Amino acid sequence: MSGVATPVAEPQAPKSAAYKAKAYAAQSATSGLAPFSVPRRDLRPDDVQVQIQYCGVCHSDLHQVRNEWQSTLPTIYPIVPGHEIIGRVTKTGNSVTRFKEGDTVGVGCMVSSCGVCVNCRAGEEQFCVNFPTLTYNAEDKILGGVTYGGYSGSIVVREAFVLRVSDKLDLAGAAPLLCAGITTYSPLRHWNVGKGQKVGIVGLGGLGHMGVKFAKAFGAHVVLFSTSPKKIADAKRLGVDEVIISTNADEMLKHAGSFDFILDTASAEHDLNAYLPLLKLDGTMTLVGAPEKPAPVAAFNLLFGRHRLAGSAIGGIRETQEMLDFCAEHGITSDIELIKIQDINQAYERLLKSDVKYRFVIDMASLQ
Ligand code: NAP
Ligand code: ZN
Repeated sequence: MSGVATPVAEPQAPKSAAYKAKAYAAQSATSGLAPFSVPRRDLRPDDVQVQIQYCGVCHSDLHQVRNEWQSTLPTIYPIVPGHEIIGRVTKTGNSVTRFKEGDTVGVGCMVSSCGVCVNCRAGEEQFCVNFPTLTYNAEDKILGGVTYGGYSGSIVVREAFVLRVSDKLDLAGAAPLLCAGITTYSPLRHWNVGKGQKVGIVGLGGLGHMGVKFAKAFGAHVVLFSTSPKKIADAKRLGVDEVIISTNADEMLKHAGSFDFILDTASAEHDLNAYLPLLKLDGTMTLVGAPEKPAPVAAFNLLFGRHRLAGSAIGGIRETQEMLDFCAEHGITSDIELIKIQDINQAYERLLKSDVKYRFVIDMASLQ
């Protein structure tokens, strides 16, 4: 029951659905989400069936429901979003060794990958050279059609992509760790953020507030860049040392040349050139936010100070387990607002207005 399985090549299996699970789907970019049902497969030997209890609402769900990433990741309708999944194991295939019925588990943004490429072998399945199978809006190589995500009552996932979740954690608050958590933990670890460093987090949303919690837990001096003055008091409560209102150019310039690292989680168009000069010599700014439109970068903002502009996408399975264990040890969960699935369309509108502290999580019991 311990350790993380090394992914192996994806087994071939018959294209047959075993059962239908209740879900919420969008039929088009403008339809909103409504009741639907999705096929789930019969368990193969290495499969785990999970009854979904909670699913976080990521801004990536909204981008894809509205087909905002059409040039890179076009949406296939109907789409059932959801990749911050917490649930209980209801059944296991006969070769599954790490999970048993009743265990609390998580499923994040991927449900499979080739398992044999150089990146999969390095535990970086998110960068599978054959592209990982995303939890939703991806080709379902087993059932055919597309994969359907966690706005659903049940899901079947390969054991190697199922995570252990400690029952010590509040389970609704733990759901966002499966995407918002790992997406911020991974770059902060990769760029060795820690004591004695001044670290900026751009945007206090689902990802941003997790970035703040991890950067503080790693011992950094944390500065929040926010467009929302109303979030200042709350940011301090979350442990932020300083808040900069990013629309105030004078306030921004006072910090020129002072940051070791900046993690940019903003979901909408913004000027990267306002942040790059704030980096120290050899400082790095890493994008995790994925706005719809590309952003121009002035070369001089990189040349001067040998600044680096980088990107990062979620994290591998091994690191996701490490992050979940770190959260269990340090009592870290997301600050959430629990909603019923019937309120999902209103929640999307509020998410666009930054009107959530700081992650909506769907109580899947409401799907019944
Ligand atoms: P979110 O909860 O909506 O938070 C986004 C935050 O961005 C807002 O709270 C707001 O913070 C800030 N923001 C919004 N509009 C802005 C603007 N025009 N200029 C500057 N800041 C702005 O979204 P999320 O779920 O955290 O996701 C954030 C982004 O990361 C999305 O694009 C999402 O698709 C992407 N994402 C990427 C990965 C990955 O693997 N790289 C994984 C998950 C999500 P303030 O109010 O504080 O300004
Ligand atoms: Zn996400």
